[in-house]
Order: sequence, then C-alpha cells, then structure tokens
Amino acid sequence: MSGKQHDVDVVIIGAGSAGLSAAKAAAAHGLSFALIEASHRIGGRAYTEEFAPGIPYDLGCHWMHSASLNPFVAIADEHGFSYRRDSQWRSNIFAGGAFLPEDERQRWMDGMEADHAAIDAAGAEGRDVAVADVIDLAAPWAPFMAYWFSLGTSRDIDQVSVLDVTNYNDTDENWPLREGFGALVARWAAEVPVTLNARAERIIWSGSGVRVETARGTIAGRTALVTVSTNVLTSGGIVFDPGLPDWKLEAAAALPLGVHNRIGIMLKDNRFPPEAPADATIQIGDADEVPMSIQIRPFGMDYVSGVTGGRHGSWLERAGIAASIDHMTERLVAAYGSNIRASLSERTIVTAWESDPWTLGSYSGAMPGHGHARAELARPVDDVLYFAGEASSSEFFSTCHGAYLTGIAQIEAIAARLRTAA
Ligand SMILES: Cc1cc2nc3c(=O)[nH]c(=O)nc-3n(C[C@H](O)[C@H](O)[C@H](O)COP(=O)(O)OP(=O)(O)OC[C@H]3O[C@@H](n4cnc5c(N)ncnc54)[C@H](O)[C@@H]3O)c2cc1C
Repeated sequence: MSGKQHDVDVVIIGAGSAGLSAAKAAAAHGLSFALIEASHRIGGRAYTEEFAPGIPYDLGCHWMHSASLNPFVAIADEHGFSYRRDSQWRSNIFAGGAFLPEDERQRWMDGMEADHAAIDAAGAEGRDVAVADVIDLAAPWAPFMAYWFSLGTSRDIDQVSVLDVTNYNDTDENWPLREGFGALVARWAAEVPVTLNARAERIIWSGSGVRVETARGTIAGRTALVTVSTNVLTSGGIVFDPGLPDWKLEAAAALPLGVHNRIGIMLKDNRFPPEAPADATIQIGDADEVPMSIQIRPFGMDYVSGVTGGRHGSWLERAGIAASIDHMTERLVAAYGSNIRASLSERTIVTAWESDPWTLGSYSGAMPGHGHARAELARPVDDVLYFAGEASSSEFFSTCHGAYLTGIAQIEAIAARLRTAA
C-alpha cells in the first residue's frame, strides 16, 4: 500500500456511518483517501439481517431520530426506502399483573414528564450531575423511567450526565425504517471504496503526516480520521505512536459506551389480540424489576422485538442467547397468555454489542461531571489526527445521523487545513 511520502490526503479508519460519510465528503472535496475497516462488512453499528426474505431486522440503529433534521430521511427517499412518520412509542404499560388502565397510565406519563422537566431545569442551571440525582426515584414509574433512559443512553441513570441529556437536540420525531436502517446505510454507501478486514493496528503520527499499519500493509497519509468507538479507543486496540495526549484519552474515557441490545423472535402466526398495542413495556416481577419494552409485529411483519439496556442489558448479554430469549418469552406470556408461546418460532436474532470486538458497546453516554467531553473528543490533535463518530457529535450523539454529520464536519476541517498547508 505504501510508496511515495504520502499515499493519500487522509486515511479514514472505520467504515461505519461516520467513516462512510467522511469518504464521500473527501471525494466531493477532491481529497484522496483510503478507508480501512477492521471487519468483513461496512456499516458498523448500522447493520440489518433478515429473519426471512422480506423480513429485515436491524441489529443496530432502526429509527431516524429528530427526523426533520435527519439527513437519512432524504437518503431514504432517494433510495426508495419506506418508513413510518410516527415512532409508535405510545407504550402500554404492564405492571402488577395487568396493563395499566388509561387514567393510571396517563398519571405515570405525567409523572415522567415532571422528571424530564427536572432534568431540563438541572441542565439549564449547568448542574453536571447524574440523572438519578434529579428524578423521583420513589415514584411507582421510576423503574420504567430508569429503563427507558437506559435504552436512550445505553447506560443507567446514575451513570449519565444531566447536561449530556439536555445537550441532545431532540425534536421528538423518531421514524422507523421498514427495510432497515442498516440496509439503507449499506445501499447509500455501496459505491464507496473500502478495504475490509484491514484493522488499523498502529498509527504512527510523529513527523509529518501519519503511517497507519494494518495486516494488509501500511498506508501513509497527510492526516488520519479516526472514527472508531470510544470503547475501542480506550481499549488500547489501536496503538498510537506516540501515545494520544491525556486530554484526548480522558475525553474518550468520559464517554463510554454502555449496552443496548435487541432481541428478535420471528412469529409462526399471529395470536396477539387485535387490540394489542404496537409497543408494550412489561414488568412481571416486583416493583423493582427491570421492565422490558417489546414491539409487537412492527410494520405488520411477523416478529416481536424487545430491547435491553444498561447494566441489565450487559448482564443478559453475558447470560447468553437462550437466557435472553427466555427473558422476553416470559414477559410475553405474562402479558398475553401462554398461548403466545406456540407462536414463537426458533428463528431469533439476539445482539451482543458489548462483546463485539469492533465496537465494545452500543453507544456513548457522558458520565456525570463530563457533560462537555464531546467537544474535546472532536478536537484534532496537532492538526494531523482527526476524530469523528457518534460520540463526538455535540447535539446528535448516540445516533447514526450524528455520526454521519461528524464525518462530513471533520473532512471539511481537514480540507481547510490542507488548503492552508498547500
Ligand atoms: C442496538 C442499537 C440500536 C441503535 N438504535 C439507533 C437508532 O434507532 N437510531 C440511531 O440513529 N442510532 C441508533 N444506534 C446508534 C447508531 O447505530 C450509532 O451511533 C452509529 O451507527 C455509529 O456510527 P459510527 O460511525 O460512529 O461508529 P461505528 O458504526 O461503530 O463505526 C466504526 C467502525 O470502525 C470499525 N473499526 C473498529 N476498530 C477498527 C480498527 N482498529 N481499524 C479499522 N476499523 C475499525 C468498526 O468495525 C466499525 O465499522 C443504535 C445502536 C445500537 C448498537
């Protein structure tokens, strides 16, 4: 791969949403680039499999969040992908052996609104404390609030900064893609040249430019754009030579990925009552038990999909696939009767993002006291090493479009810097 002093203007490391948008932006700016990817496929945390032909299942991102500000809506239109314009997140709540009657459900929802208002107020005051420090932990809905938070941030309420939550630009529009978000990313980026199975092992950035060593050779670049997850960055899986400065490593460590896993079970038939809600959150044990949100037949397709988050998600991932399926099955049976069991097929998809060596988790959350770490993560080192990826987004972190936007922004910074140097 190597030859003259610099093979390319920028070596892009990682072909997830950020790396792929960066590659497209580099081409648009007339920059030469090499995009290297450790795994055998592109997309990273955007990845769709199929239960069966025509029944896609997203293992990573699925909803186009803040849809009116989300560039993937136009990309979906361009590629003929379909999506709903509502999230169907009006969850019916099963607790204490029954679905809550509507007035009680509304009371809980109002209580959670008050929790969100308390978070907003703390954020407005600049209090960089944990979400758990400002919400009502004694309320009957507290386990549900904590659970839904663990899905949104992939970490538990004592591990997430209030400032981080309030920095997120949420328009409350979350549109799911029928054919899969991962499939959309793969289609949109199909023409991007990528070297697969080429893990960046060492990045040497002393002297002018960078040299990136992979098992498939060394690439010399004027700059490098690193888009790997913060957990990969802090794991030492890529050796930086010289080492990254402390401020950069501290920023990455303050933005760890937690766990958000998806459990899908294909249905043999539909035995759900016609009035079954599209999304039910089910707690069958005592009031402290972690509930589980389950989508019933999304887009009318014959599958159910449950989600786990935070420490509980991590524990269930380690407990394994069978335990994860059992966990969801028990909740479905409690809410819809044992008849449902016969509907559940052997076809399942259970994600394990924490064990995935290329991500080591699901998405980033800023730790209490570190609500401003994302700007530091985005800051280049010595005008040679640049950083993109969801964790470095200041307003759309933890999302696919947030990652996409950081890839473009960093290429613009690189293009400006190389113009100045020319
Ligand atoms: C279960 C789950 C559900 C989600 N739901 C949503 C959702 O509904 N909507 C939404 O917008 N977002 C969602 N997200 C988040 C979204 O998927 C991610 O934020 C986004 O895809 C991250 O993109 P990225 O480019 O920053 O990182 P990644 O996708 O992780 O890309 C980084 C790439 O770097 C590669 N890599 C790692 N190490 C090396 C190395 N040493 N050398 C070369 N390459 C390397 C990896 O293989 C990977 O391909 C979800 C994520 C998960 C896990």
